[in-house]
Amino acid sequence: MPEISRRASSLGTENAFVVLAEVNALARQGKDIVSFCIGQPDFPAPDNVQEAAIRAIKGGKHGYTPSAGIDELRQAAAQYLGRMRGGLPIRAEDVVVGAGAKPFIAYAILSGTDHGAGDEVIYPNPGFPIYESQILAHGAKPVPIHLHENRNFSFDPAELEKLLNKKTRLLILNYPHNPTGGCLTRSELQQIAEILKKHPQVWVYADEIYSRLVFQGDFFSIAQAPGMYERTIISDGASKTWAMTGWRIGFTASPKLAPVFTRWITNTDSCASQISQWAALEAVTGPQEAAAAMKNSFLERRNLIVGLLNEVPGVRCQVPGGAFYVWPNVTEACRRIGAADSEEFRKRLLHEAGVAVLADIHFGTRVPGEGQHLRFSYAASNQAIEAGVQRMADFIRKNTKKAA
Ligand code: PMP
Repeated sequence: MPEISRRASSLGTENAFVVLAEVNALARQGKDIVSFCIGQPDFPAPDNVQEAAIRAIKGGKHGYTPSAGIDELRQAAAQYLGRMRGGLPIRAEDVVVGAGAKPFIAYAILSGTDHGAGDEVIYPNPGFPIYESQILAHGAKPVPIHLHENRNFSFDPAELEKLLNKKTRLLILNYPHNPTGGCLTRSELQQIAEILKKHPQVWVYADEIYSRLVFQGDFFSIAQAPGMYERTIISDGASKTWAMTGWRIGFTASPKLAPVFTRWITNTDSCASQISQWAALEAVTGPQEAAAAMKNSFLERRNLIVGLLNEVPGVRCQVPGGAFYVWPNVTEACRRIGAADSEEFRKRLLHEAGVAVLADIHFGTRVPGEGQHLRFSYAASNQAIEAGVQRMADFIRKNTKKAA
């Protein structure tokens, strides 16, 4: 038998998909599960976007497009990305459209590091699991930077300063953040930009896929700090803002790397779906009421779930500034029910109470001294939020050890 490469055998994954398969299997067996696992809006794409896609199909827009995307969308995305980021002068030729934002994580690592050269990539921990998995798959060295609950899940810039060295090639930032919902403030991003001045060889991958889901104040990108746009890869897309995860449209801006990303796409997908590109053009340029209404629902649900979770015995939940995730601390709840850690807690919550969530270990190694956490995606109805958190509270009360 031919062998599978070490690279492929050791490839990491997004455990959300693994847990989702487990949840679906239980649901098929007739188990009643309230799920907070999946990181996507629970709304359909807006009507005007659906109609634009139908028009594209009926209008014969069926062929390949240029690898960087149709000119109309590159132009519109350039204006949109710039407008959302304090008027940054982003040009259409700086923008590349891809099949989602996700592939650009790999393209950025592949374009900024060399395999086996000891090149280092700093990324948030906890964090989107694909960062670490792709850093390893492409033969670079993963260097996690820890996020802290008492800093609203940002990292200490002083810690970044310690991790940066001559081998560092890429810094991955993500704000608003998956899995904690945390945001980096303007002043934190400015401090980071200041630190990076001493390390001109470092690219920044700014994963800003949740940029439209910021609940307080204006969104600020590190690319807006002086001297940063040239070395920053801005990554955004249609998935979260317009509920288009399955349509697969992401767009990045980087004056230097746009031609390089274009070549990667020619080598992989050829181009993003033409139909989805015309739909995304409508999403970006058309009426924004649907996107605004979705954001309002997320804000309402955030307030609901944070309030309810903070009433659950042994649970403490911060108010996150964006995205649609909460990251409650369940250290005390684990102790009360005699669960060794958050993963045991998660499994029991799923099997004994019918509530599906993810555990902190699905987003990296636990940060020392930070305790045990779970991730709830609150892209779920108010009824599901109320029922799910009630089940969790009942489960903890019922299982609280007498001696505790
Ligand atoms: N980055 C982060 C932090 C995400 O959470 C996600 C989606 N879960 C992505 C990137 C990928 O989004 P897309 O659907 O555009 O590929």
